[in-house]
Amino acid sequence: MRIVLLGAPGSGKGTQSQRLMQHEHIPQISTGDLLRAAVARGTELGRKAKEAMDGGRLVDDQLVLGMIRERLAEADARRGFILDGFPRNLAQAEALDKLLATLQQPLDAVVQLEVDYGELVRRISGRRTCADCGRVFNVSTSAGKHAEGELCPRTGAPHRLVQRPDDNEATVSERLRVYDEQTRPLVEFYRARGLLRVINAEGQVAEVTRRLEQALHARAAAKAATAKRSTKAKRVANAAKRPAKAKRTAKAKRPAQGKRAAKGKSARRARR
Ligand code: AMP
Repeated sequence: MRIVLLGAPGSGKGTQSQRLMQHEHIPQISTGDLLRAAVARGTELGRKAKEAMDGGRLVDDQLVLGMIRERLAEADARRGFILDGFPRNLAQAEALDKLLATLQQPLDAVVQLEVDYGELVRRISGRRTCADCGRVFNVSTSAGKHAEGELCPRTGAPHRLVQRPDDNEATVSERLRVYDEQTRPLVEFYRARGLLRVINAEGQVAEVTRRLEQALHARAAAKAATAKRSTKAKRVANAAKRPAKAKRTAKAKRPAQGKRAAKGKSARRARR
């Protein structure tokens, strides 16, 4: 399955991608995570991306596209992928379309996670990430507080929770503005291509995962049903053609039989 998760910062794309990755056995590709890793490693890409990220703006399209091209060429992405945080504007969506057409791997679905503005701000301010395993927690919910007490699967010690530098109040409002201006138009872009599914992403994490999987599998089931209907329609059309051909052959033979019969009659008359 090749999926895009679309949604504002704080809508749960990261959390849901991680859960989906375990259920569907396909990798999560988060451009935000890839960029943060590049910043942490101090690579040239990281240095170029850092300023935009700190200000809550989008990183240059060419940098992000180069990164995505490389990531999609890796072996694990051949089984499918969940794109989290990419594409973020129309230019990126069009470039992705072209890239996937070249790879002959078109998208199966785009799911938009819908969350109320106030809830987005609440979630972002409570968001923490384990510096060791990358798991995302929300310390403003009781489930998040409980999970915080569990041990990190990487280190076996308690999770080391850190707040993202761009999860501060000023940057968050800029990120939400950028989402409305540049990313929200993708909803119509994908709706027009028949790929869009919208789900309510508020409520318990597990309940949102259930809605997400239902949306994905309803789409796959509809696709399979359409394919089955078109195969059946082809079979019926072919069957309808066959008797017509047979009739034509039968008609074509009749005059010849008539001639033979007539010949037979005149021969008998001649003998008499
Ligand atoms: P995220 O973790 O998806 O919220 O992304 C964090 C930051 O990384 C964003 O605010 C952008 O500065 C940058 N970023 C992530 N994905 C993209 C993208 N597809 N295009 C441009 N910038 C991105």
